[in-house]
Amino acid sequence: MRIGVLALQGAFAEHEEKLKKLGASYVEIRKKGDLKQPIDGLILPGGESTVMGKLLVDLDCLEEIRIRIRKGMPVFGTCAGLILLAKRVQSGTQIQIGTMDMTVKRNAYGRQLGSFSVTSEMKGIGEIPMVFIRAPYIQSVSGDTQVLAEVGGRIVAARQGNQLATAFHPELTNDIRVHALFLEMVKRVKFSEIYL
Ligand code: GLN
Repeated sequence: MRIGVLALQGAFAEHEEKLKKLGASYVEIRKKGDLKQPIDGLILPGGESTVMGKLLVDLDCLEEIRIRIRKGMPVFGTCAGLILLAKRVQSGTQIQIGTMDMTVKRNAYGRQLGSFSVTSEMKGIGEIPMVFIRAPYIQSVSGDTQVLAEVGGRIVAARQGNQLATAFHPELTNDIRVHALFLEMVKRVKFSEIYL
């Protein structure tokens, strides 16, 4: 089992640390050619979604990733990664992978609450620490997207099939359970065996 970690920009190294702790191997995705190797899942880290979206287009990776997700490759987006996955972003146009039925609001907590952390419940896991950094929240979900966590009445984690998204950063805490949940999803699909 091998996980691709999009490593164009942002907090990808912290995700790699979590994968190491869980004994999963990973490869960094920095260019189109990196997507040609067999990977079973993909992590889209936090960072700046507008920059990442633009780089994905410039590197000709956007459509490659979209195709794989549509074919069932498990994907986990945190923060900016969540924004990239959303079909709709409130206010402004930006480049989206756009595979998940949800509407997100970027930089949604305003300046004063730019960064904060809480402990809250995530469905299927329990209480976990959640670190938010200039985070988005999910305004609404549609289709079969399920809400997995809410903080202060706002949706901060969701899942649709093999797509998992959190507005917070589980890679910045000592808790490995969200990554473990993603690896369970990856194991169930064995994407590299069905997509060659
Ligand atoms: N504010 C960033 C954006 O809109 C996301 C912040 C993050 O990923 N920590 O893309």
